Amino acid sequence: MIKILDGKKIAEEMRVELRLEISEMKKEGVVPGLAVILAGKSAASQIYVRNKERACESLGIFSEVHRLDEDVKEAEILALIAKLNADEKIHGILVQLPLPAHLDPQKIISAISPKKDVDCFHPENVGRMFLGEPIFLPCTPAGIMEMLKRYEIEISGKNVVIVGRSNIVGKPLAVMMLKENATVTIAHSKTKNLAVVAKQADILVAAVGRAGLITADMIKQGAVVVDVGINRGEDGKLAGDVDFEKVSEVAGAITPVPGGVGPMTIAMLMKNTVAAAKMFYEIRKYGN
Ligand code: NAD
Repeated sequence: MIKILDGKKIAEEMRVELRLEISEMKKEGVVPGLAVILAGKSAASQIYVRNKERACESLGIFSEVHRLDEDVKEAEILALIAKLNADEKIHGILVQLPLPAHLDPQKIISAISPKKDVDCFHPENVGRMFLGEPIFLPCTPAGIMEMLKRYEIEISGKNVVIVGRSNIVGKPLAVMMLKENATVTIAHSKTKNLAVVAKQADILVAAVGRAGLITADMIKQGAVVVDVGINRGEDGKLAGDVDFEKVSEVAGAITPVPGGVGPMTIAMLMKNTVAAAKMFYEIRKYGN
């Protein structure tokens, strides 16, 4: 029988824990705060930002969204980040990606104070993660690790194949899996014989953005399959990268789309924001 790895359920468990933590913080007069910067009108980004706002609201995290025009100047966005870096009620700053094409995302993300970089995309935080000394972990891969941990899925010594090598999912996930002693392979668009590579996986993670890319013949019997992909079909329905129906006949466990990795990503963002607020107040109390 296939086991469904229910991201919605685990994210709710995390929210219960975070609510408790936040109510304790509020007794000390501490309210975590998140600022989101959204440039342009991308429909998908609008939905993601609204979901983040709702998640903050449901936990009692203060949030504000800065909606900027598609043609916003780099200087304007950098000035806003500088202001938020200095704002004492804001502990996490997130720039919703992708940015409009005329803006350099690396330059803009590098302007965020590393202590407020709750997405963990700042080069300093990426370096810290790489060295195994993180202050934050990037939300999607950290959400995957948290879900596997809570389902007590063994990672040490396992063959993990990650399909996709982006800076926000594939690469950081590989580092996190290595830290947990997995043998890691990263496959990508130039990988030859993806099916042969994928079939070695005890844990297969698909983070590509192509519906139906991962088919049942690529899966080892009993493997754990994590589907990060979000693809909207012509009918408007969401699908992952994995052929869920057929793969479910071979795999041992699988994440659905929607309801798998997505809710975990937002839960980890909330967790990072709370951690950032704690860090802010501790530094204020005890110094750096
Ligand atoms: P990206 O576009 O930056 O990278 C895609 C990767 O897929 C690349 O590394 C590329 O080499 C690889 N690839 C492309 N075609 C391939 C093929 N035929 N075979 C093997 N590899 C191939 O993507 P991303 O930002 O990492 O996002 C990937 C998917 O995950 C998207 O659908 C995105 O929407 C989704 N996503 C979901 C969440 C979530 O919270 N659930 C978070 C981030 C991204």
